[in-house]
Amino acid sequence: MSEASRSDSSRGGGRATGGHVPRRGRVVIVGTGIAGATAAETLRKQGFAGSIVLVGDDPSPPYRRPMVSKDVLSGSAGGHKALLKPPAFWSEMTIELRTGIQVHEVDIAAATIEFEDGAALSYDALILATGGRPRRLDPLRADGHTLRHLHDVGPLRAELERVGSTGAIPAVLVVGGGLVGMEVAASARATGAEVTVVEMGDRVLERILPEPISAMYERTHRAAGVAVHTEVLLAEVSEVGGRKRVVAADGREWIADVVVVAVGMTPNDELAAAARLAVADGIVVDEFCATSASGVYAAGDVARFPNRILGGTERVEHWNHAQAHGAAAARSILGMPEPYEEVPWCWTSQFGRTLQIAGWPGRGNELIVHGDVHDGAFLALSLADDRLVGAIGVGRPRDVRAACSLIKDGPFLPRELLGGDGVDLVETAAAPDRFGAPPVAAPRE
Ligand SMILES: Cc1cc2nc3c(=O)[nH]c(=O)nc-3n(C[C@H](O)[C@H](O)[C@H](O)COP(=O)(O)OP(=O)(O)OC[C@H]3O[C@@H](n4cnc5c(N)ncnc54)[C@H](O)[C@@H]3O)c2cc1C
Repeated sequence: MSEASRSDSSRGGGRATGGHVPRRGRVVIVGTGIAGATAAETLRKQGFAGSIVLVGDDPSPPYRRPMVSKDVLSGSAGGHKALLKPPAFWSEMTIELRTGIQVHEVDIAAATIEFEDGAALSYDALILATGGRPRRLDPLRADGHTLRHLHDVGPLRAELERVGSTGAIPAVLVVGGGLVGMEVAASARATGAEVTVVEMGDRVLERILPEPISAMYERTHRAAGVAVHTEVLLAEVSEVGGRKRVVAADGREWIADVVVVAVGMTPNDELAAAARLAVADGIVVDEFCATSASGVYAAGDVARFPNRILGGTERVEHWNHAQAHGAAAARSILGMPEPYEEVPWCWTSQFGRTLQIAGWPGRGNELIVHGDVHDGAFLALSLADDRLVGAIGVGRPRDVRAACSLIKDGPFLPRELLGGDGVDLVETAAAPDRFGAPPVAAPRE
């Protein structure tokens, strides 16, 4: 047993309050995803000299989760290629990485966590970066594969290979036409499988993309041989001759060898809820990643934080956000707090088309499209009552990046800059004097 994993109730007296962990204290991070891993790395790189324990139930060292549904599932990269860091990195940084072990309880009063084997570990500051787990559908509770962890890929690919070895073409049914579902469809198709996507809504990618762009992706999938069915409410799944028979409420049915369920995720906030931290579809934190308990922070997919740009609170399920949020939690612990106000940014890659999304395109009520969404590069700007709130692009990475700073720092841009020919957001972002004022002045108090 390592020194850090011994039960030790003598610590915790110097618990971080408002970000002051003792120089030689111990920070425990639960969750080895990108938020937890980045928090650990940031603590060390910013000079924290104490003990850092990074613990998670995933058996693998930290890896790039977005590769799971793309390169790893399609077979274009082995699982080792997805590792975030070379294996020696963690010990070189004197970060104690403990994989394959679950944390069962957090005792806020004692400032300890308890592992599944009953061992306890005290902390001076704790970061909960527990992410989420795939949502399940009742009719498919026992039958469907889900894809979140690296170790989810093996059984799925083994099933495809087993069917392939009989000389048959494996049939894959993907339930859910969101980002992960459509990526799974594209990757499964790349392995030569017959692929069908069934989606409950009236179009795929509805939650994340405006209609013309989701239509482009749907068309791309169909052109590549993926069958797409919308408005499908699953009713029943049964076993027929070793295959799955999936029936919709309106009587449509499909036979598949493999069913993959990709219908979103549920935040892993139960640990926090049981410890009586504030929880509301995620662990509630302030703009410094602090939870309702002193010395306890949360970051990444699991955290519900204030949206300082558009107002309200939100949870964001993007890689870059989880990374930046983990770093922000670490800075708060080190007494270098900065209010978190990153514009979310993410990407998806399907059939060779990499699309980037910045901000909150779904919050807009007007879309200005530059270029043809069906043909090569384009940039789409999403406006909510004249305010730039989102940008989506293929082949326009610099514009999408620039949109992030414009959404944050110069959201009320004159129309001609957004709608004119040859729009160049990079140039616009570099010329802040071109920014306009909000169309309606806020009323005086
Ligand atoms: C298949 C897939 C593809 C994706 N593709 C993209 C993409 O292309 N672009 C993009 O921007 N985003 C993508 N995302 C989203 C992105 O990967 C996530 O937003 C990000 O990985 C979240 O990181 P996190 O560290 O907050 O949480 P997670 O990565 O979920 O890590 C949390 C970890 O904590 C562990 N844990 C939970 N509870 C406990 C406990 N009690 N004890 C111990 N360990 C625990 C979990 O098992 C998990 O390993 C994708 C997600 C998936 C699933």
